[in-house]
Amino acid sequence: MSDAAEHGNLIGGEWVPARSGRTFTSTSPADREDVVGVFPRSGAEDVTAAVDAARRAFPGWRATPQPARGEVVRRAAQLLRERKEDLARLMTREMGKVLLEARGDVQEAIDMADYMAGEGRRPFGETVPSELTDKVCFTWREPIGVVGLITPWNFPVAIPSWKLFPALLAGNAVVLKPAEDTPLCAARLVEVLLEAGLPPGVVNVVHGLGEEAGAALVAHPDVRALSFTGSAEVGRQVAARGGELLKRVSLELGGKNAIVLLDDGDLDLAIDGAVWAGFGTTGQRCTAASRVIVHRRLVGDFTDGLKARAESLRVGNGLDERVEVGPIINDRQLRRVHSYTAVGVTEGARLVTGGAVLEQGDLGRGHFYAPTIFADVRPGMRIAQEEIFGPTVSVIAAESLDEAIAHANSTVYGLSLSVYTRDVNRAFRAMRELQAGIVYVNAPTIGAEIQLPFGGVKGTGNGHREAGSRALDEFSEWKSVYVDYSGRLQRAQIDTN
Ligand code: NAD
Repeated sequence: MSDAAEHGNLIGGEWVPARSGRTFTSTSPADREDVVGVFPRSGAEDVTAAVDAARRAFPGWRATPQPARGEVVRRAAQLLRERKEDLARLMTREMGKVLLEARGDVQEAIDMADYMAGEGRRPFGETVPSELTDKVCFTWREPIGVVGLITPWNFPVAIPSWKLFPALLAGNAVVLKPAEDTPLCAARLVEVLLEAGLPPGVVNVVHGLGEEAGAALVAHPDVRALSFTGSAEVGRQVAARGGELLKRVSLELGGKNAIVLLDDGDLDLAIDGAVWAGFGTTGQRCTAASRVIVHRRLVGDFTDGLKARAESLRVGNGLDERVEVGPIINDRQLRRVHSYTAVGVTEGARLVTGGAVLEQGDLGRGHFYAPTIFADVRPGMRIAQEEIFGPTVSVIAAESLDEAIAHANSTVYGLSLSVYTRDVNRAFRAMRELQAGIVYVNAPTIGAEIQLPFGGVKGTGNGHREAGSRALDEFSEWKSVYVDYSGRLQRAQIDTN
């Protein structure tokens, strides 16, 4: 089957078209003419069919011993390893990130599968003393039921895997609504799970638009938990509707992450970090460093160094191994990124480099934007407060550690912040005072590893964490069990002495 073929929703183990027969097309952001595939534009009736299939499959999967569930995930890890290069190439074609980064994206999924396969034999609960004699108390985890997963396009394999593997390992049946810009990456990931032996109906996929298929999944009464990664704007809607229906809703939302360079920090190291975190994935990472807060003494040298590096970056189709910066995901997002350049200029920031749509030669086939730097940015400007989600970096000057931390903390978001300093006292003060779910020292704002919890504070989420030892919390309930083997009525709080 060629990739440009028509693909289906996965419902009860079968790939089927939307009931309405409607479709949408996935195209490459590096080349609008390159059609990656045609997908069902699903509606509420398709979501209902998927949820019904999940509901039917749930009891069998729940009854499957957790180590056996872990074995399915382990086989998926192996298959992903074997297909890493193919998946990475597909991702570069469908989403645009350069091959080096696409391989890293698939590797994240492999790492998560390995980790979760291990969790198959580590579903620890607590054994807790009773206040009464001849009585034992303990806890265990239980699956929630049918859970809905809604994912963005920027990590088209990694983010679905961060949700799928723990949700399935915990014994849930799932319905995944992947981003409409990267449906084939999600389909290929799910195929791996089927081949690894996941029973039909335990995982279902409904393709389509957010306001249609996504909203229907959020509203479906039999979906007991929702795990959403995406923009704050949509996350708020998901939380409102899910809250009304008393669902468990976990949200991973936007960021306005910053690197802080103090006057004793390593300038060259910080420039390396700012290039990787600001322009890597074309700035389309939730953890991208779109702000760099630099001590006033270093700000001139830093800006010159970053400018030189930004201007030397090779922009193009990421399938070319020499390319360092790929396209922007789609035309709407390209226009949005460009509109922020106008905002920055109007606000009085100094455009140091970039600020233009790139259309020369083959670049005209896709959605490309020049790596862009603004200097003389004040922390309250919109370009320093709002998530742009493109290759635009704002340089902000600060006089001191305290002022730098205040600037870093001045946005509504709190995902990832970093500090460059050689002074251990300042490093620890920054670790404590930076308001973020993730803090880096002498490293940029990106580079999370799957064995640690991942998530943000403030407007980046609602208190949940993905990955690491906390990953199962999103997808399981705790049950507390009391066993009284005294043979008589023992009353808690009353028969104690
Ligand atoms: P988005 O919010 O537009 O879409 C995310 C998903 O939600 C898509 O599958 C979309 O179809 C769906 N959706 C849209 N409207 C919906 C609705 N009304 N009801 C239900 N679902 C709906 O985000 P995006 O553009 O795909 O991704 C970029 C955003 O994701 C950025 O803000 C980025 O910071 C964020 N993000 C956050 C993290 C994190 O872990 N914190 C990771 C990656 C991306």
